[in-house]
Amino acid sequence: EAKSSGRDGFKIYDQTRPEKSVNKLTLLEEMRTGIENGEFFLEYQPQYNLVSGRIVGAEALVRWQHPVLGRLMPGEFIALAEESGLIVPLGRWVLHEACRQNRQWQDDGLTPITMGVNVSVRQFRDSGLISDVTAALKDTGLEAGYLELEVTESLLIQNADQAVRLMDDFRRIGLKLAIDDFGTGYSSLAALKSFPLTRLKIDRSFIRDLDFDESDRSIARAIISLGRELGLNVVAEGVESAKQQAFLASCRCETVQGFHFGRPMNATRFGKLLAMTLTPLDSHFGRMERRA
Ligand code: C2E
Ligand code: MG
Ligand code: MG
Ligand code: MG
Repeated sequence: EAKSSGRDGFKIYDQTRPEKSVNKLTLLEEMRTGIENGEFFLEYQPQYNLVSGRIVGAEALVRWQHPVLGRLMPGEFIALAEESGLIVPLGRWVLHEACRQNRQWQDDGLTPITMGVNVSVRQFRDSGLISDVTAALKDTGLEAGYLELEVTESLLIQNADQAVRLMDDFRRIGLKLAIDDFGTGYSSLAALKSFPLTRLKIDRSFIRDLDFDESDRSIARAIISLGRELGLNVVAEGVESAKQQAFLASCRCETVQGFHFGRPMNATRFGKLLAMTLTPLDSHFGRMERRA
């Protein structure tokens, strides 16, 4: 994981490369210019309905094509972006680009899907979020119902009063609202009661060991039925195997996302995948339907 390495050094870490240390202020300055120079881009990870086998959504995930360091993942720069406030302009760009791309797919005649965009606490505190969102929708012509903001439990709890008001405003516009990494925060149940949510995303730490951890199975099952009782859509994140898929199907989990179904990919590849989803012959699901 990314670690801060003292006052002036900022260590970034990538599983595929040796650890290297980069000056934090330099990286910050490079991020500032990188936003202006279009060095950031989005990948999209598909979300599938577990019964129909069709793509119903995408999560937009930001990456940075750094001119020297190569491709950087969010774990390597989002914390710095948040700390410095650069997450506000970066997040504004992410919102706009995700809406633009989603609208483009609709204009291409593809099945309309919901686009999930991650929003961090700093953006949430910034009073401009609502105007950034409405501007992104207006500029791109995307209908609000096809945009979903993903927030974390800790964000909601830390800013409870403001968050309730802001989320009420978002719901009034017609946006969807998801709790990301659900179950890892400290006040899950209170949050469910206070906030106008549409979706829970079960954190992947509960999915990872489903095959052998009986308590993770119980937790996943409980979150899925809780969501159902509350009329919320539930997404299992980080599904990596057919066995996990089968368990989630047995709990009637509605939506899944994970490497087993598709890794984050560029817009062109995602568009092709979306075009194919019109024929529900995806092999993962074919297997399941035969067994059922
Ligand atoms: P997240 O919102 O929980 O996003 C899911 C992360 O899990 C993504 O990592 C995704 O690639 C990864 N993932 C998906 N399926 C699997 C799987 O089956 N196995 C495993 N091991 N991992 C899986 P990524 O793209 O590195 O993003 C990490 C985090 O960075 C995100 O977690 C989110 O909190 C943050 N992030 C990403 N894009 C943005 C953004 O535009 N704005 C903000 N504020 N945060 C972002
Ligand atoms: Mg997310
Ligand atoms: Mg998550
Ligand atoms: Mg996360």
